[in-house]
Amino acid sequence: MNSKDKSVEMAAEILLDGGKLLRDSCPICRMPIFERKDHVLYCTTCNRELVRENKEPSQEVEPSSNPIQEKINSLSEQLRKEQDPQKIIEYANLIKTLQELL
Ligand SMILES: [Zn+2]
Repeated sequence: MNSKDKSVEMAAEILLDGGKLLRDSCPICRMPIFERKDHVLYCTTCNRELVRENKEPSQEVEPSSNPIQEKINSLSEQLRKEQDPQKIIEYANLIKTLQELL
C-alpha cells in the first residue's frame, strides 16, 4: 500500500470537490495544505485536519532562493487553475516529488 499515491488521490478529490490548494504548508510535514469546501484545512500527507489559527493564515513567504521551491510555487499556481483531473494528479505528483528534494 503506497501512502503517497493515497495522499495525491485525496488531494485530487478535495480539489475536484471544490476545495483549493493553499499557499500555507503543513506545520508537521511542510507539504502544501488544502482547504476543503467546508473550509476545513486539511493535510493530505498527514491525513489530518489542521486547526486554523485565529489570526489570518501566515502569509510569510520564505525567501525563495531555492529553485526547487520556486518551481513548487509555480506548479502550485498552475495546479490551482487546472481543471483536468488527470493534470491535477500530475501536478500534485510533481509537487510532491519536488518537495522531497528540498
Ligand atoms: Zn502534513
